[in-house]
Formats: sequence, structure tokens, C-alpha cells
Amino acid sequence: MADETGKLEPCPDCLNSEGYSPAAYWIGKRLQDLMWNMPSREQGRADYERITTFLAGRAPDSWGHDEIDLRAATRKLAQLAGVTDIRAWETCATCDGSGEVGNESQRTS
Ligand SMILES: [Zn+2]
Repeated sequence: MADETGKLEPCPDCLNSEGYSPAAYWIGKRLQDLMWNMPSREQGRADYERITTFLAGRAPDSWGHDEIDLRAATRKLAQLAGVTDIRAWETCATCDGSGEVGNESQRTS
């Protein structure tokens, strides 16, 4: 069955970054590494979680931090840096966050 929603061309300015600005994507990747690859409890995990919990606005659950925490942490860092328009800062200007370029008539069927 054909994909009825169709697809447009991937955005050349945020290829594989899902509509995020380069800065938001890059900083998010660094935070993801911190949140997903924390040391063990024996290695002082609590000291790391103190920082990630502050940035995410909530503590990790038994599985750790999730994608929502990652977005919250990225936005929190931007806010702490004085960014006032978080959406503009984190969104690719070329595709306005859609990750695709083109218009509806170019959508594949
Ligand atoms: Zn884009």
C-alpha cells in the first residue's frame, strides 16, 4: 500500500537532525551522551544525576533519562545562556523544523 502522506526532499541544512538547528542538534548529542552513558552508582553516578536532573527538570526513572528529558535539558541550557526565543534557537531555519523542503505539490504519492 502506498504511503498516502507522501514525502518531500530531506532538508539539506539539517539532514538527519530532524528539523533541529545545528546548535541544538550538536548540544543535544552531547547531553544525550551524558544522560545515556552515565557511570555506575559505584563510580559516582549520583554526582552526574544531580546535573542531569537539574537540566531535565526531573530525575531519571529506573530506565534512565528519556527523549523528553533530553529536549528539556537542551532548552534549559539555552535558557541559562540567555536565549529568549527557544523555538527559533532550536529550529532549523530552512525547513522550520519539519526536516523536509518543498511544497505540497512536490509531495510523492
Ligand atoms: Zn532543516
